[in-house]
Amino acid sequence: MYFARASLILAAVANAASIPNGKRDTGLEVTLTAAEGSVADVIATVKNVGAESLNLLTLGTFLDAAPVQKLAVVDEANAPVAFTGVYRSIQYSNDLSDNYFKLLAAGESFNTTINAAAVHDLKSGTYSFSAEGAIPFAIGDSKELTDNAVTYKTNVLTMAVDGEAAKLAPKAIPEMTIAERTVLQSGCTSSNKAATTAALSSCASLARAASTAAKSGSSSKFSEYFKTTSSSVRSTVAARLSAVATQCGSITSGGTKYYCTDVYDYCESNVLAYTLPSTNEIVNCPLYYSDLPLLSSTCHAQDRATTSLHEMTHAPATYSPGTDDNAYGYSASIALSSASAVLNADSYALYANAIYVGC
Ligand SMILES: [Zn+2]
Repeated sequence: MYFARASLILAAVANAASIPNGKRDTGLEVTLTAAEGSVADVIATVKNVGAESLNLLTLGTFLDAAPVQKLAVVDEANAPVAFTGVYRSIQYSNDLSDNYFKLLAAGESFNTTINAAAVHDLKSGTYSFSAEGAIPFAIGDSKELTDNAVTYKTNVLTMAVDGEAAKLAPKAIPEMTIAERTVLQSGCTSSNKAATTAALSSCASLARAASTAAKSGSSSKFSEYFKTTSSSVRSTVAARLSAVATQCGSITSGGTKYYCTDVYDYCESNVLAYTLPSTNEIVNCPLYYSDLPLLSSTCHAQDRATTSLHEMTHAPATYSPGTDDNAYGYSASIALSSASAVLNADSYALYANAIYVGC
């Protein structure tokens, strides 16, 4: 990821992202400013610049209270700074809890503070912060998600960071000493172990087929998900999917570690699974086992195989750089730019599903 650098410290010029979503007049303007006196806190002012009240999905998005990735951070050399928080996958097809929505009336705005030092390893120097994505929403106080997503693209905030202070800042994910382990960790019940093993096997088949399709299949199908037919992008997507097939293809070796139990305590209602990119650990939540089929033949439906495929793309040990959660679900994912889609976990899961189902 490369981002244009702002020349001024605390540059705060917003890029209005009033992009039409279907027939609806919806738009979000997100402006980043530095929180004075903090190590690296960024205040995001989110304004509804459309004509309708939006009930924005917060879980797993820019608005989540958990330490999910909210900002892209690059150093002075424009090199991305690794994210050390958590990526959480949600079940987006079911009824979602009230807690997972933020109602924002037309013309209104709110501020949310993002503690960048808690989820990025920052040294002394100048960093650039930005965010771009698409958020699923319902209209008014409804919780029924529309088929659209509201896109946003922030200004680039440039901020000087004191490395000593950043080093002392509490981290969202405490460092743990982890012994060398195989991919599938102990602690799984026999039924969860069987379910995980079957899902990883299906993940490998789907990723292999999707890799072949990305390389040499329909260009219009590829473009539907990744917004380009460029051969270099097709190669990148194919290489990542092939690497996922390798990781999912073995439960006894590989660079990722897979858990059946909530070892870091990030599961909650509607969370299917999560990934810690800094340690290449993937955790399946109880919902993964109770509410998902192994493999669905419905277009864009969620299942265990594509959820595991989604998580595998987040891990840098699978393919570097790991993906982000720029958008969830079909409508939000196809609203991304090509550069964002190539780094979006769900774009790979949705594409693999489409190739398998033939939709
Ligand atoms: Zn994810």
